Amino acid sequence: MAARHRVKPPIAKALIAWYRQGHRDLPWRRTNDPYHIWVSEIMLQQTRAQAVIPYYEKFLSRFPTIEVLANAGEEDVLAVWSGLGYYSRARNLRRAAIAIQAAGAFPSGYEAIRDLPGVGDYTAAAIASIAFGLPHAVLDGNVLRVVARFENDAADISSERIREHFRGVIQGWLDPHEPAAFNQAVMELGATVCLARNPLCLLCPIATWCRARQAGTAGQLPVKLRKTAPVRIDSVLLLICRRGRVLLRRREANARLMAGFWELPTPEHLPGARVRETIGTFRHSITHHRYTFAVARASAVAACDCFRWFPPVEIGGVPLSTTARKALRLAAIL
Ligand code: SF4
Repeated sequence: MAARHRVKPPIAKALIAWYRQGHRDLPWRRTNDPYHIWVSEIMLQQTRAQAVIPYYEKFLSRFPTIEVLANAGEEDVLAVWSGLGYYSRARNLRRAAIAIQAAGAFPSGYEAIRDLPGVGDYTAAAIASIAFGLPHAVLDGNVLRVVARFENDAADISSERIREHFRGVIQGWLDPHEPAAFNQAVMELGATVCLARNPLCLLCPIATWCRARQAGTAGQLPVKLRKTAPVRIDSVLLLICRRGRVLLRRREANARLMAGFWELPTPEHLPGARVRETIGTFRHSITHHRYTFAVARASAVAACDCFRWFPPVEIGGVPLSTTARKALRLAAIL
């Protein structure tokens, strides 16, 4: 870990000026409404900004206020979230909306925001700074990369202690008078300039003071030692159609992942199914699991209560697993 004393460079000033010159025009950057910022930050937790945009717009058009979200059924919220993945985020948004409605107003302090279901340090700092102007610096993977490179610090960012150290560094950079602009600027820098593979140092507003740039070590930073080896899994999804309808299976209400979602059955769900032909394959990753799914046309003779036949037009209105969505697209049904 680097512990250095030097004249503090005007990092915040340079970042904010660069950000104001021309950042990406993302819909959640045009507002400081806490509800809108909150929804966008939850969606951005595991998803790239460009992929979030259509979901963000659809979600706010369907649930324009916290009250509408709080009064919606979980199934409706999951259906709108379908395709975005990590569905506990949608469940937590709804749970938090119910708590906010009961409290009468969106919480306006960092700790109270942090207490909402599904909100961690990063999201609480983003909402507190952007919606309420509070001086809390954000720290996510992009920001960790910027700080580690700027400081030319090769400490292991998978260590909680090191991340806390970097949290202190970025908090020290923050301009307490402009926390919203500062946080958005440093996030923008990590997302568009200080890229993981090929940092665009020539375009970087803080390159003058960047120690990794001076040392030529940017490509080796940050250091993350604890890596989980990928696990490769082959699986089959059955596409069973009858009279223009598709057979879907509902996941158990107590399933650890995606409880209550509709999915395509596998041969394990329907041991009597007869597989006819494979129509294609697709890949899907969940954390370190790397799946290859083959989609096979099949017929089945029996099904229990957890199965239902859906006309294709109705499939968009139910929570659908991402793998089912990919398979049905492959089969040109969605
Ligand atoms: S100079 Fe390069 S490595 Fe340093 S912060 Fe800027 S983009 Fe990242």
